[in-house]
Amino acid sequence: DRESSTQPRARRIGIMGGTFDPIHNGHLVAASEVAHRFSLDEVIFVPTGRPWQKLGEDESGRVIDATRAVSPAEDRYLMTVIATASNPRFSVSRVDIEREGDTYTVDTLRDLRAHHPEAELYFITGADALESILSWQDWEGLFDLAHFIGVSRPGYELHAKHLAQHLEALPPNTLQMLEIPALAISSTECRARAARGRPVWYLVPDGVVQYIAKRKLYRAPKASSPGVS
Ligand code: ATP
Ligand code: MG
Repeated sequence: DRESSTQPRARRIGIMGGTFDPIHNGHLVAASEVAHRFSLDEVIFVPTGRPWQKLGEDESGRVIDATRAVSPAEDRYLMTVIATASNPRFSVSRVDIEREGDTYTVDTLRDLRAHHPEAELYFITGADALESILSWQDWEGLFDLAHFIGVSRPGYELHAKHLAQHLEALPPNTLQMLEIPALAISSTECRARAARGRPVWYLVPDGVVQYIAKRKLYRAPKASSPGVS
């Protein structure tokens, strides 16, 4: 409409951040649906480095893994590559796994903006991750770097009241909500299934099923190693 034929529109790039431990079909459907609805040229999947929100502190303030040991970044990266390889519009970035220290969304967006200065960025996030958006550092600055697309996820409220209250002051189109086909799949459930020898076929792409088996991921509960460095 506003775009003249002589000046092509800016390239539109979706960014799908996640721990991807493992990547599953819920992630892929979310990316595919947002790409379609927002006419994205590409979706870049960005596996996290150190997932700080999954870490905790003990009484002495020492950082510990409060929940579990996350699989090595290289395994999560490779599963993401395997899962996205067949889609010409999907790619995977190593920016978060190669950056020192904790992963913050604002750093992800700054890095990708530097790589793609001409592009419009669309950060894709599930309803549950959106819930924690207000705990992200510098969250107001985030909206200067990208559009945010919140997608529905079974078990989570998409139009959270407290979010609406905080976000209504923002300019239009900074955060949009999108209803997507509901897939009640989580990485947590996939790991639990793999650990018990239950199938993860059709929850994750075939190549990821095979990668999990080949690398024996999620087999036994990890020996407790409180120090995370
Ligand atoms: P975990 O159980 O380990 O937290 P997860 O399934 O939530 O894993 P993440 O890697 O934490 O996967 O999620 C990455 C992004 O994908 C988040 O924005 C999350 O909200 C979104 N997402 C994950 N699963 C779904 C799903 N089934 N439907 C829609 N969005 C999803
Ligand atoms: Mg999650």
